Amino acid sequence: MDSVPDEGLLLAVLNSTPVVDGVPADDLADAARARAWLASVGGLGTEAELRHVLGVRQALQDVVRGDRPPAVLAPALRGVALIPALTGDQITWTLSVPPERELAVRAILAWDALARLSPGRLRPCANGECRLFLIAHSKASTARWCSMAVCGNRMKARRHYQRLRSAPPA
Ligand SMILES: [Zn+2]
Repeated sequence: MDSVPDEGLLLAVLNSTPVVDGVPADDLADAARARAWLASVGGLGTEAELRHVLGVRQALQDVVRGDRPPAVLAPALRGVALIPALTGDQITWTLSVPPERELAVRAILAWDALARLSPGRLRPCANGECRLFLIAHSKASTARWCSMAVCGNRMKARRHYQRLRSAPPA
């Protein structure tokens, strides 16, 4: 299975605005909950970090949905550098970015790596009433739902119901 560093972080950021019981929610709206969330994905849990993550989340969601061009991500990458270091006979690369911006930048780098290494694997859920995203297991995968148990079954049931309704009376 293909995977890129921070794939999980990227998906966690993208999926922090779920629809709960039909109402759009934001896991990062409450400051205390947001700080705990940031810490749980390896962040600092500071207010400055939250601001950067929120800005990048909106931009990434728009880009993955195709609503805005990737250029909207450019400001969040300003001044970011990769520093090479030779350890033994190998070069390792370290991200050079102010700590409060690191999480947001890593999410963007994961989006880029996915888009280049396996374009199309990152998708919005095909249920129009769902705001979640999914990362398919492979490029060839036809996975369309964030969760087969939730959106997959719901959409299948709806299509079945519509077929029944549109069928001519016997
Ligand atoms: Zn869904």
